Amino acid sequence: MPDKTHRIIGVVAALLLLALALLPGPGSFFICLPVFVIALVRFSVPAIAEWFLGTYLVGLISGRWFFHHYSQNWVFPEIFALLILFWVPSFIQNQRRDRKDKFNSSYETKKRVFENFRSIVEKIKKENTQIEKQLRQIEHLYDVIKEAGTTLNVQEMIELTKEFTERMFDLPHFIIAVLSNDGKNYEIRITSGCDESLFRSLEIGLESKDLSSVLAREKKPVWVPSVEKEERFKTLKNLSVRSFIFLPFLVQDRVIGFLCSYSTVENFIDQEKFSNFQVFCNQISIGLQKSLLYEKVQKLSITDGLTKLYSHRYFKQRLEEELILANRYSSQLSLLILDIDHFKHYNDTYGHVAGDYVLMEVAKLLKDQSDVTHLVARYGGEEMVLIAPETTKEQAIELAEKIRKAVGSYTFAVGRETTSVTVSIGVATFPQDAQTNMDLISKADKALYAAKGRGRNRIVAYPI
Ligand code: GH3
Ligand code: MG
Ligand code: MG
Repeated sequence: MPDKTHRIIGVVAALLLLALALLPGPGSFFICLPVFVIALVRFSVPAIAEWFLGTYLVGLISGRWFFHHYSQNWVFPEIFALLILFWVPSFIQNQRRDRKDKFNSSYETKKRVFENFRSIVEKIKKENTQIEKQLRQIEHLYDVIKEAGTTLNVQEMIELTKEFTERMFDLPHFIIAVLSNDGKNYEIRITSGCDESLFRSLEIGLESKDLSSVLAREKKPVWVPSVEKEERFKTLKNLSVRSFIFLPFLVQDRVIGFLCSYSTVENFIDQEKFSNFQVFCNQISIGLQKSLLYEKVQKLSITDGLTKLYSHRYFKQRLEEELILANRYSSQLSLLILDIDHFKHYNDTYGHVAGDYVLMEVAKLLKDQSDVTHLVARYGGEEMVLIAPETTKEQAIELAEKIRKAVGSYTFAVGRETTSVTVSIGVATFPQDAQTNMDLISKADKALYAAKGRGRNRIVAYPI
């Protein structure tokens, strides 16, 4: 109901009661009613009570003093009762409201304090999780360092890197490339979750225009949360790559390999994770460098420096092992010993540098004629050997003949001159010619000696 109606009701009710109180006889009854009216509507409809009280008091006082109506005996108590009835509850109500307000404000303060406290607890919890995460990273890193120290094998080291990368950093797709033995290429040694068609080849030239090669030359870690925002990497979008990282394995300013990871969604690795990953890659670099060096030294110790064939020592060791296998599986094994004919004369005529070149080229021809099951080594001087497992004497003679023809028909350039050499080859076969490695070498050597005696440029198989 609008306020105006309340006022009218209040005024009309007051006037009505004032009029009724004028009635002789029942008038004194109506004089009591205002008290009930006020009591009734004081709180439910305050506007009616206020306007009723105002009108009634004005009417009562003016009726008494100007028109001498209403008895003085009840006018004063009536006024007093009405005022008390009107103001006391409102006083009590105000008191109550004050107390409630106070309570509310103290409740709000406490609530705010509690909220603050809760947000501090949340923050601490978050920091705790963060610290726990970092602790786990450190533990993993410690494991990496520990395990990296236990291997000197490059492939094992790479597999270890893959395992830790998957376990610690949860990268969706990545490749690991390592410098090749000749130091001319990066070889992709391991991939994880990758589409192989993304790589044109498993070898990336050090000076190539390939993106990874370009980044490796820059020697800096690269973090690209969105290829869209970096002009330089925008073309990667064509390969459905949306974000990627590149981490070089850097040792003393030399990039010995790298790890490259990408994702089809943006921001797959945040900056903090990337920083941790950098620390991890630094550790890997050290381990990798150690195993690469070890592998190089290992290779050098079993390789002949001039011809790049296996060394005499390694040949002996492998011949022994191959004979054990041939014995166990009752298979045949043939040994070829090759010697360049009149090589002393060749050296005397064209010089030792030209002689060295011939040795290198003959070694290459020998390797070209051999297959993966053969082992080719430099026995000493201008003598070379070939171990042919699971090869009969007839097959070995056939192979020797191929080698003899290949060397004989080859022309060796010495300045402007073209020269040629011939070779003699002795063949012996396990088990029919010899049972031990020393004996087998000796029989093959005897056959070679016989070839020399029979005019050179020929094959002789034991028994002579
Ligand atoms: P043949 O074997 O036909 O009986 O005659 P040859 O002249 O080859 O005789 P021999 O096998 O005894 O001579 C080996 C020569 O090989 C002696 C040496 O000058 C040469 N020689 C050995 N090692 C090297 C090398 O590393 N470089 C060069 N340039 N020559 C070598
Ligand atoms: Mg010789
Ligand atoms: Mg010779």
